[in-house]
Amino acid sequence: MSQIPQKLISGFQRFRKQHFESNDNFYQQLVTSGQTPKTLVVACCDSRVDPALVLDCEPGDLFVIRNVANLVPPAEGRAGHHGTTAAIEYGVRTLAVQHIIVFGHARCGGINALVRSGGESQTDSFIGDWMGLAEAARASVMRDMPDAPLEELSRACEQRAILGSLKNLMTFSWVKEPVEQGKLTLHGLYFDIEQGQLLQFNEKTQRFEAL
Ligand SMILES: [Zn+2]
Repeated sequence: MSQIPQKLISGFQRFRKQHFESNDNFYQQLVTSGQTPKTLVVACCDSRVDPALVLDCEPGDLFVIRNVANLVPPAEGRAGHHGTTAAIEYGVRTLAVQHIIVFGHARCGGINALVRSGGESQTDSFIGDWMGLAEAARASVMRDMPDAPLEELSRACEQRAILGSLKNLMTFSWVKEPVEQGKLTLHGLYFDIEQGQLLQFNEKTQRFEAL
């Protein structure tokens, strides 16, 4: 049998001790009651930005979808395998979450690569194709701040890509309708891993502001 890293096995043993061998019947309750998360989060695969850790949530609190650069594709043809879209559909239509958070972050490798690509699409790569979802954000940043250093361009693109994903969410009728009925709210959050700050997009000021 192939060897799973010992760090992970030891981690599971600690987890099991804490949750299954003590009087903590938390998981038992979750099994009995099923999952009823109120919040769906679209976060990045980046190993440093686990939303449950950053938001200090318990199992059962968040329905989390992670992909490269926390992007949401727009509604489009049903051909292909739409993992992110299918998961969002499940969260909204079956679990009836009340909030969707697009959870972006600083120093995103996917966005950084997109900014450095200069908009040239990489047709030989799944990542290049996927990051095309944020091309409008990249192009708008280059138009508005052409002389800014790479770090600033990336930060602006990380934030604008969140707005692009929020816009794309509204292209799904099963998101748009509950939003318009006040049953579902969309939020853009940006986790600054350098400053340890969480910023929220403010529609009134059109800026990301620290919480
Ligand atoms: Zn990222």
